[in-house]
Amino acid sequence: MAESLTIERTKSPKTKPDFSQLAFGKNFTDHMFVVDYVEGEGWIDPRIVPYQPLTMDPSSLVFHYGQAVFEGMKAYYSDGNIMLFRPEKNFERLNQSNRRMSIPEIDEQLLIDSLKELVSLERDWIPRGEGQSLYIRPFVIATEASLSVKPSSSYKLLIILTPVGSYYGGDDAMNPVSIYVENEFVRSVRGGVGFTKTAGNYAASLKAQEQAGSAGYDQVLWLDGVEQRYIEEVGSMNIFFKISGKVVTPALNGSILEGITRDSVIELLHYWDIPVEERRIDMEEIRTAYEAGTLEEIFGTGTAAVISPVGELRWDAQTYKINNAETGPLAKQLYDTITGIQTGDKEDVLHWTRT
Ligand code: PMP
Repeated sequence: MAESLTIERTKSPKTKPDFSQLAFGKNFTDHMFVVDYVEGEGWIDPRIVPYQPLTMDPSSLVFHYGQAVFEGMKAYYSDGNIMLFRPEKNFERLNQSNRRMSIPEIDEQLLIDSLKELVSLERDWIPRGEGQSLYIRPFVIATEASLSVKPSSSYKLLIILTPVGSYYGGDDAMNPVSIYVENEFVRSVRGGVGFTKTAGNYAASLKAQEQAGSAGYDQVLWLDGVEQRYIEEVGSMNIFFKISGKVVTPALNGSILEGITRDSVIELLHYWDIPVEERRIDMEEIRTAYEAGTLEEIFGTGTAAVISPVGELRWDAQTYKINNAETGPLAKQLYDTITGIQTGDKEDVLHWTRT
């Protein structure tokens, strides 16, 4: 894209919220990034404009057939620098989602450059407290006014920003979560769209999450969509198990999301010479390891929590307490290392942060 980014500054900056009491995704910054796709012209007119509502035709394709993808990432403030964590991975994944959803790909460098401009403009919106960050939400929607089931001829890509507090509420406790192993609903199937961040995946997950919540569990563990036997993901996180000193995580098989935190954990484990396998994991294997006393830790990985220890599993009317429902040493070490790198407090040994 030859066109350069234009910036229109707001004339009425908002009053910032109390950064010590942030609810996730409720307060948005003063500006947003927008770029349009027009058939025959490509992605045009990249711009930063005041944050504002969109005006759309009610027949816009996104409202009817869900042609929409999104991303989630964070920026951190560190000694005068704004740090992004592997943003190129998010935009690669955005294009991977785009390809599957028949949305035209977009220049990833344009997105990185525009995002850097946007977060720089909004630098005062990045909270500086322990565990706090600026959550970044890029998303694409199909805007053609039409009720035909077909790829849209026009799209909008936006990036909006929201300051977020520490996932663990500021203390260092990393409260382990309880997980309900889902036997009725499935999240995705091989050949489907599970590996994409498309909006419908999240709409389709709400029912199971609601039921698990009513039964007193924090999140759902998704099993494969055919036999409901092999482990896929937990809530909107990838999942890892430590069994007899070895770490295992489900292989990328087309139905799970290729998490960037997942990739970072695997790279760190390699760096530390801790054995890690990506392969199919049967729920029975977890039960057997539990009964043999070799199941040491379970944790989820994702942008929101970074590392989320699992303290309890509920499967087939049985409850399994993991590591006495306490945060395990590996989960803690990974959390401290990754958050340390993200905030510039620890050496960026694998060269992940971008300023
Ligand atoms: N799985 C799903 C379904 C997700 O929505 C997310 C969050 N993006 C993840 C896993 C974790 O991915 P990441 O580490 O890139 O945040």
